[in-house]
Amino acid sequence: MVKDDCIFCKLANGVIPTNTLYEDDEFRVFLDASPATKGHCLIVPKNHYANLEEIDDATAMKVLPLAKKMMASLKEKLHIEGLNLVQNNGELAGQTVFHFHMHIIPRYTGDGQSINWKPQTPDDGQLEELVKIMNS
Ligand code: AMP
Ligand code: ZN
Repeated sequence: MVKDDCIFCKLANGVIPTNTLYEDDEFRVFLDASPATKGHCLIVPKNHYANLEEIDDATAMKVLPLAKKMMASLKEKLHIEGLNLVQNNGELAGQTVFHFHMHIIPRYTGDGQSINWKPQTPDDGQLEELVKIMNS
């Protein structure tokens, strides 16, 4: 199922050309147009799912093995030293393209990038309350 007005549906299905690193029946992996680092690419399913909530489990289960395969290939060919997987859901979380995708961001010494958050300092009571809510 593709969505007519979705750019990633068009890119994943070859309607618009991409710099493709890998393709099979269900996925295309292509270079990000505005990469964080050399080799930054996106795992994109050919079917349309807006985000992690929408993607079906059978498809979702194939994403991590594919990321692993891409990591091996990036290590061999580009000699990457580390890698971040990033997958944004929702505008607030930085999602700008509303077709599920996983970023594969190679890391190199001195690449000047950082994928960070500011650690907070909740007290024990707050953590316990959170566990209660989540397990209720
Ligand atoms: P996100 O912010 O997680 O939704 O990521 C969307 C990513 O898609 C960004 O890193 C963009 O640079 C990338 N992107 C958007 N349009 C294209 C395109 N036509 N070809 C390749 N990458 C794209
Ligand atoms: Zn789409």
